[in-house]
Amino acid sequence: MKRLEEKVLNEGKALQNGVLKVDNFLNHQVDIDLMEEIAKDFATEFKEKGITKVITIESSGIAPALLTAKELKVPLIILKKQPSKVIYQDVHQTVVASFTKDTSYELTIAKNLLTEDDHVLIIDDFLAYGEAVSGAVRLVRLSHATIAGIGILIEKSFQNGREKLTEMGISVYSQVKIASLEDGKITLVEEE
Ligand code: 5GP
Repeated sequence: MKRLEEKVLNEGKALQNGVLKVDNFLNHQVDIDLMEEIAKDFATEFKEKGITKVITIESSGIAPALLTAKELKVPLIILKKQPSKVIYQDVHQTVVASFTKDTSYELTIAKNLLTEDDHVLIIDDFLAYGEAVSGAVRLVRLSHATIAGIGILIEKSFQNGREKLTEMGISVYSQVKIASLEDGKITLVEEE
């Protein structure tokens, strides 16, 4: 997606450890106008797939996923990373290793939110090694719902997340694909 590519190239910062910092428009401050365009792009891609719910992982996926759910006129489910005493008694949980924080967390969904009649779109901000999104896939499958696809804003194609998800039989649509972040330079994948 052209506008997101330009934003990444102009405002993203390639850090030493293969991490792209996008705090200016996605992870800290949010460019709402850009998020609306991102949501329209996801909606165009997935509108014929019979999606009943959009799912994301707290917290940086929420802004684009919320607007995508609005475009598709379906509810949004936010998977929780922090255990909460209030809602969580009857839940599915799965352990996920965090790429940016070097720790792990228990991704959680209440059992009553998805049924076998649901066909879901999973949205996340980044795809790196695919840990977060495959955790979401496991929770959807534990809930007996089916997966229409995965929508990612920024895929780091030099890490193996896409391969992992393809092996799980799931198709991934990424708006921007990064080939390399070496030497502080952001290089995009050249599409034919
Ligand atoms: P994965 O689970 O695919 O290894 O990593 C995906 C998660 O880690 C995303 O939800 C995102 O929050 C975070 N992440 C991975 N790589 C990056 C990155 O380069 N920059 C930022 N800002 N977050 C990242």
